[in-house]
Amino acid sequence: MKKILAFDIDQTLNVAKTPITSEIADLLVKCLDHFEVCPISGQKFDQFLIQIVNELPNPTPEQLEHLHLFVAQGTQYYRFNIEKNDWEQVYNYPLTEEQVAKITATIEQAARETGYWEEDKLKPGDEIIENRLSQVTFSALGQKAGTEEKYAWDPDHKKREKIVARCKEISPEFDYEIGGTTSINAITPGMNKTFGMTHLLEELHVEKSDILYFGDMTQPGGNDYPVVEMGIDTITVRNHEDTAYALRGILGVI
Ligand SMILES: [Mg+2]
Repeated sequence: MKKILAFDIDQTLNVAKTPITSEIADLLVKCLDHFEVCPISGQKFDQFLIQIVNELPNPTPEQLEHLHLFVAQGTQYYRFNIEKNDWEQVYNYPLTEEQVAKITATIEQAARETGYWEEDKLKPGDEIIENRLSQVTFSALGQKAGTEEKYAWDPDHKKREKIVARCKEISPEFDYEIGGTTSINAITPGMNKTFGMTHLLEELHVEKSDILYFGDMTQPGGNDYPVVEMGIDTITVRNHEDTAYALRGILGVI
């Protein structure tokens, strides 16, 4: 019997960058009664609230204590403090300003050289490269682009593979991972989901075999692949509907 259900977010729990469906929300609240539930994603803390926590139907504080937010690939960890009735940050491992500046310049150069710097397609006030403190994220069409537009941009990852290949030539000291629909996450080596899952093991005092992980990018080079490499049991999903199907099965046998 697993103790932990861990989830990638984009494309695993939701349609990338949008709130989870009411079906997923209901299933997650049910999971909180039986498991520690650990979303882990490259996104910022506020997006965890917007996309997941705020969508849960009337969770009790006791249920929220079983929800663990591994933000920015688990380089930040938040848990619910029942006394304060609020989320608290347990740890944070940010990039240095120099690292952020170097990564930002590298990605912009690589995207321009490969012809995928789509500044003209941005909505007002939006940005292509975002400093997420523990990682820098390239989103080809910005944060505010429509879902359909994002899906259509690079469905076979070929554009991002070219950008990543060029980034590795310019600044090989960083790691670059393809995630979501238009994103590349740049991190210092080891600051990927391996880092997050390793800290999850420590913080929750569990073994790898206690975890079942759900992700849509479990192929080599994908941002869920480090979890596979660690030897953690993984379910590869195509979308949140696959995840809902699996969760119904898991909850049905409890
Ligand atoms: Mg994903």
